Amino acid sequence: MTKKAPYQNFLENLKAAAKTAKIKLEALEALSTPEAIHEFEVKFKLDSGEAKSVPGYRVQHNSARGPYKGGIRFHPEADLNEVKALASLMSLKCAVANIPMGGGKGGVQVNPKELSSDEVQKLSRAYFRIGTEKNIFSVDKDIPAPDVYTNPQVMAWMLDEHEKILGHKSPGVITGKPLELGGSLGRSYATSQGGFFVLEKYLESQNKKPAETTIAIQGFGNAGAYFADIASKAGYRVIAVSDSKGGVVCDSGACQIEQLQAYKAEYGSLRGNFCQGEKCDIHKMKKEKMHVVSNDELLELEVDVLVLAALDGVIHADNAENIKAGMILELANGPVTPEADAILEAKNIDVIPDILANAGGVTVSYFEWVQNRSGDVWEEDYVISKLKKIMENAFADLLQVREEFQTSHRQAAFILGTERIVKAMELRGTI
Ligand code: NAD
Repeated sequence: MTKKAPYQNFLENLKAAAKTAKIKLEALEALSTPEAIHEFEVKFKLDSGEAKSVPGYRVQHNSARGPYKGGIRFHPEADLNEVKALASLMSLKCAVANIPMGGGKGGVQVNPKELSSDEVQKLSRAYFRIGTEKNIFSVDKDIPAPDVYTNPQVMAWMLDEHEKILGHKSPGVITGKPLELGGSLGRSYATSQGGFFVLEKYLESQNKKPAETTIAIQGFGNAGAYFADIASKAGYRVIAVSDSKGGVVCDSGACQIEQLQAYKAEYGSLRGNFCQGEKCDIHKMKKEKMHVVSNDELLELEVDVLVLAALDGVIHADNAENIKAGMILELANGPVTPEADAILEAKNIDVIPDILANAGGVTVSYFEWVQNRSGDVWEEDYVISKLKKIMENAFADLLQVREEFQTSHRQAAFILGTERIVKAMELRGTI
């Protein structure tokens, strides 16, 4: 199967939503075109002394509702098409969450796993130096955050480079920072917590109780592992999880998440050393009886909830028909393709889309920006209570749109986000 370019998927969803909600052509055209695309070479020195140059991108999609906001990823496959799609989705995500931010995204086409920590630091500084000197990033204009293969340490280096050039402090220029440099409490698990708040509301409407709800999770990284922990502590039955090496199903009917986390930390993956090729000695996992499944098999398990927290495009035209989950929660960006969406809809499988389900991350990033700008430091309980309100309001707003247009959750989210941005553009007189 050839994978369709992510920006084409975005445009397809946008057009479908615009058609359903009769959004005017001028607005559709504005949202189909990023406001600015920055492409540049990021040059840095390897430890060997050799000069290295890699392609860097920052796409600023729409700023009608506020400054551009969105992560920076370091990935060998990061390209302009992907960064454009992710920037566009950020505009809609911020609008769906109803936070005063626009959408942007950055990427560097590089494999940071092949670089030393010193080299990653040089790369991070070089990327942000260009962004600062070209006036792409500033605290009121464009505020990046971590994304795939970037983390709080990378944000710290980028902040330091920015402030060195400015000659004064400006912590709000970047979020997802370490707490010591102005990061927000609650940011590390905000994406998962936000998705969980939405899931709880969804399940409440279906009269489903935690103890009778089974969950399978693809991806056991930041988003997936925190989600597994939050859901299992709330009494849900997480019965299967997977990472890039494959998955495990817990035969007791509810995985011991802390034990799986400890196992992953020790062996590097869930399948780790106890699986070599086809042979798995699963009894090395002493306290937890389980059997192994492939990632494809995990997706097709019969569960109440399937949480996608790994990659884009994992449910597509060729496997959507085999999905047996009751509903899908998209913590990853773009894990269900438009073709798969149509198949799932016909099978009555609800999909809570990424632009709502994983909006908790950008929401707490926005809280971090507010704290940095006011000089305040919020308590964790306060952060999470504000997040809960925002996520629940967003879901309630989405349900209203869904009801009005009798459409899927994804299309309702696209309509809700689009209408909010269009209103802001109209008020500004730009369309
Ligand atoms: P991560 O790198 O911490 O974790 C990714 C996980 O996916 C890892 O467990 C990895 O082993 C697994 N994985 C990789 N390839 C896989 C494969 N082929 N099959 C199954 N699993 C595979 O990344 P993350 O921060 O958890 O992000 C995951 C997704 O969530 C991404 O799409 C990201 O854009 C999205 N997201 C994350 C955040 C956040 O705050 N972390 C916010 C919004 C969206």
